[in-house]
Amino acid sequence: MTSEKKVNLSFEFFPPKTDVGQEKLKTVRAELNKLNPDFFSVTYGASGSTRDNTKGIIKAMRNEGLSVAPHLSFGGDHEETLYEMVDEYKNCGVNRIVALRGDMPSGMGAAMQMVYANELVAFIREKFGDHFHLCVAAYPEIHPEANSYLQDIRYLKGKFDAGANSAITQYFYNPDAYFYFVEQCTKEGIDAPIIPGIMPITNYQNLARFSDACGAEIPRWIRKRLEDFGSNQESLQSFTTDLVTELCETLLENGAPGLHFYTMNQIEPTRNIITNLGLTD
Ligand code: FAD
Repeated sequence: MTSEKKVNLSFEFFPPKTDVGQEKLKTVRAELNKLNPDFFSVTYGASGSTRDNTKGIIKAMRNEGLSVAPHLSFGGDHEETLYEMVDEYKNCGVNRIVALRGDMPSGMGAAMQMVYANELVAFIREKFGDHFHLCVAAYPEIHPEANSYLQDIRYLKGKFDAGANSAITQYFYNPDAYFYFVEQCTKEGIDAPIIPGIMPITNYQNLARFSDACGAEIPRWIRKRLEDFGSNQESLQSFTTDLVTELCETLLENGAPGLHFYTMNQIEPTRNIITNLGLTD
């Protein structure tokens, strides 16, 4: 595939818990920055568990001149706490936020001020006007707690009505699920970009566990093929790089507005796919 048109790329990191992980992430972002992404995003642990860590990495990346988007969820936080954090981001030159409800540990519900992500979007818009580009989460295979397919899309529409600018999707391996979803979103009046989230595959067991929890489907034929590789990492990498490259090609050829990579703080899996796609200069 050749890159006649610039493809919008973004790369997601999680905040490492250790000093070694923090150091490694510096190398990872320096290498991935060579692929010319539009921005990097940094996740936010359930109910603010990575608050300082996420903030610290975002500030360090801003000091390196990188374009960054902190993820933000509200957990049990009061509006003042959220306001202070968003204000701090604004003051260090952040102009994009990924606004989420977040995955809550059980028992959190009663303490919460806000309940759904549309409320966080509305809050940031009310307090900070148009300063931030706000991304929200979307689920082509539908959020695991959703009452119904269409209702989930209508709630997504609610996030746009509250002021979101774009959405990034949960990862998926079936492009039809994405295209059908985008079609249904259009029918429900959503015309903002819905950027596919891409998860390179590096470890089958971890992926299977995570996918079950977040409602992302790994098609049976892929599961079966991945099981075959066992501990043969080389064969697994080769198969999964081709698989995810083909997924990205199909998405881009059929109009996806960009690609957001869940990098898992690794260089090679994402870089290999982008190189295969011919998106490197
Ligand atoms: P919401 O949009 O609030 O939706 C949650 C559920 O409630 C859905 O089932 C929806 O159908 C329903 N719903 C929505 N609005 C309403 C309403 N008004 N009334 C009734 N029901 C409603 N999690 C983290 O903890 N940290 C992260 O950094 C993080 N980053 C993510 C990035 C991306 C791109 C994606 C796709 C997910 C991410 N997540 C993260 C996971 C996300 O927080 C969870 O999937 C969470 O369960 C839902 O978050 P949301 O913002 O989609 O919630």
